[in-house]
Amino acid sequence: MENILVLVHTNEGGILPRAALETVAAARALGGEITIAVFGEGASASIGSIAVDGDAFAVPRYSTDAAAAEALVRHSGATLVLAPNTSRMARCLPGVAARLNGAVDSHAVAVARDGEAVTVTRWFYRQRIEGSLSREARPWFILLEPGACEPAEAAPAAAVETLAVDAPSRTTHEGYVSPETGEQTIRPDARLLFVAGAGWTKKQPDGAIHTDEAADLILGFVRSAQSSLGSSKSLVDQSGEGQAVLPFLTHLHQVGQTGSTPRHRKGLATCCHGEEPHVVGWRFINDRRAVNLDPNCGWARGKADVLYVGDSFEVMRELNRLLAE
Ligand SMILES: Cc1cc2nc3c(=O)[nH]c(=O)nc-3n(C[C@H](O)[C@H](O)[C@H](O)COP(=O)(O)OP(=O)(O)OC[C@H]3O[C@@H](n4cnc5c(N)ncnc54)[C@H](O)[C@@H]3O)c2cc1C
Repeated sequence: MENILVLVHTNEGGILPRAALETVAAARALGGEITIAVFGEGASASIGSIAVDGDAFAVPRYSTDAAAAEALVRHSGATLVLAPNTSRMARCLPGVAARLNGAVDSHAVAVARDGEAVTVTRWFYRQRIEGSLSREARPWFILLEPGACEPAEAAPAAAVETLAVDAPSRTTHEGYVSPETGEQTIRPDARLLFVAGAGWTKKQPDGAIHTDEAADLILGFVRSAQSSLGSSKSLVDQSGEGQAVLPFLTHLHQVGQTGSTPRHRKGLATCCHGEEPHVVGWRFINDRRAVNLDPNCGWARGKADVLYVGDSFEVMRELNRLLAE
């Protein structure tokens, strides 16, 4: 009989990431009793019946996060530990699994139970092959990808046991730095992914390049729609090739075979051709739309649910006007 622990952390202000509630939902779907453990700022007032709280655990840091997670798992006696695949958990849990002589699997997209057997599903070979696996080693840590299931409703725990953990650390957390721009435009929890392609910096029908307007239109939309921003490889590569660039785009924004595979309900690609190595990164976008001048672009060949054949400058100008109203 598995002893299941859902291990989550809070973020700044004691807020639970959405992925934490998704992990609770995945654990409940396995059936049987689950224990919820929380560490981080305000953990004692969160959804867990066991917690590690205090200033030292408020900030993400390997040494303190690993100490908190280890104490919580040991205290619970868990054989199966489900945690959200946030950067904070992905950094500390492999170390914790090693300390406890257990095993860890990251990037799980589903967990299932058939009788006593638990299986994990994940993608291999850059999202091309889906496989299921099981392990005998215990405790088994499973990191569940954000967006893999709907979040659960969870209320603060009726009674919380707060563990005292001593975790001296030589690392000081000084704050967050966003790459280049100072503005966070990659938002994994956003409902919409807005993708910019190289067309934004190409010569337009009037024979000129309009990079400044492109930047205003893209950022204007991303800010007012609170969407996440993605890019094609061609566009982010341009900075290295000395061409006109959109300075707020980095390789972290790149979606595709050699980029990321984000998960959002909807996606809107603009000035992007929709070639296979790019579109493979759209695998987990449920509703795919694109705006392109070319009715024969890749999106028109079964890659998008809806293709608007039109000028992205005009479309986004109008969309931003409507959003501002
Ligand atoms: C091994 C390998 C790995 C790769 N990995 C990736 C990857 O991870 N991610 C990735 O993105 N690519 C990847 N690529 C590159 C990929 O094949 C394409 O070259 C790239 O995605 C093209 O980018 P793009 O669509 O932005 O640019 P382009 O192909 O230049 O397309 C620009 C589009 O903009 C349109 N356009 C121009 N102006 C307007 C306007 N005003 N309104 C509307 N539409 C307009 C044009 O019609 C055109 O379709 C990879 C390639 C290889 C070989």
